[in-house]
Amino acid sequence: MTLRVITDLEDSIFRNKRVLVRVDFNVKIDNGAVGEDYRIRMTIPTIEYLTKRGARVLLCSHLGRPSAPTPQFSLAPVASRLSEILAGSKVRFVEDCIGDKVMNVASEGQPGDVLLLENLRFYKEEEANDPTFCESLASLADIYVNDAFSTSHRKHSSTYGAVRLFNTRLAGLNLNREIEYLSMIKENPDRPFSLVIGGIKIKDKIGALENLLPKADKLLVGGGAAYTFLKAKGVKIGKSLVDYDHLPWVTRALSEFGDKILLPTDHLVAASRDNNFTTLVAGDIPDGMAGFDIGNETVHRYSLEIGGTGKGTVFWNGPMGLFEVGAFSNGTTNVAKSMALAFWRGSKTLIGGGDTLEAMKRAGVTESEVSHVSTGGGATLRFLADDGMPGISVLEQR
Ligand code: AMP
Repeated sequence: MTLRVITDLEDSIFRNKRVLVRVDFNVKIDNGAVGEDYRIRMTIPTIEYLTKRGARVLLCSHLGRPSAPTPQFSLAPVASRLSEILAGSKVRFVEDCIGDKVMNVASEGQPGDVLLLENLRFYKEEEANDPTFCESLASLADIYVNDAFSTSHRKHSSTYGAVRLFNTRLAGLNLNREIEYLSMIKENPDRPFSLVIGGIKIKDKIGALENLLPKADKLLVGGGAAYTFLKAKGVKIGKSLVDYDHLPWVTRALSEFGDKILLPTDHLVAASRDNNFTTLVAGDIPDGMAGFDIGNETVHRYSLEIGGTGKGTVFWNGPMGLFEVGAFSNGTTNVAKSMALAFWRGSKTLIGGGDTLEAMKRAGVTESEVSHVSTGGGATLRFLADDGMPGISVLEQR
């Protein structure tokens, strides 16, 4: 089974063809305008690759979680932003994603034009992978391209059902880049290979950890997840978050891989997340207190591990503490800066997960200071866990 990328085909294949491209334009809309537009900017290489070869590009995406047409979830503001960015192409918007109206507008265009369809989730049939909806969507175009890694773990109409109806189904440049980078860390990471894991949802990360821990040289644990590890080691953690459901897994991981797992040795604690009175404690956390960030000694140790040598590969997922609250953001900010230092010194650095990207930006680290920013939170972890990616496997052909 092989995955074909848009660059694998002859240029002439695209000439005057309607190409349906699944993108992820699930961006923040503030007062009717696009806020952060990273997800839009990153689709430019695929869109322009196709328009330059004379394709008529039909872009489709979801935005938010509407189950019926809702003005606040319209993709119209994205079309405005796209027409500013894609100055060389005519960008049009159509207020539906299937049906005659879309067909008519699509057939009026010229080669090289771009047409953005309205939010796929205005139809509940999109998430239901409904056969009739899939047929309507597939009837719009001659060729299908998936450039939305972050939705490829879902079996929806636009990522799965409709795709099966195309003879020519291809990976876009972003999707291919994600697959290349994430496969590299799964199969052949440059050594030493360090994993930096934070956040609170251990459950979401177990599959990826099971795959990567045997290959990794170090696992640095921070954030809420660290307290489950410390609890398993018998350290007193006060009233910090513990994931009791996954305590047995953590205990097993510590007994099998304990020599490569680094845990926080000091913590910034408070009586509650809203309490401004914070204290730095080393070792045990007093009763009635919870850890909301890694402490200074841990920050120093982790920063040296991550950014110190400029060798190997570092993958980071999940903040080191409750970083949305300024008082608890120091650990995460410093890890983000160490990731940038590792990159500048020559390490391959990857970050994954929406929160992690947000944390990196808050720390003033730009996307160009990371080897690869994986845009899929859930999708990234699913891919690393080998948990099945219907939106990718459906592209593979004999
Ligand atoms: P996740 O989705 O599992 O990566 O978790 C991200 C969330 O974990 C963020 O909203 C953080 O604020 C939160 N978080 C990280 N560390 C802690 C902590 N020590 N206590 C409470 N929440 C935390």
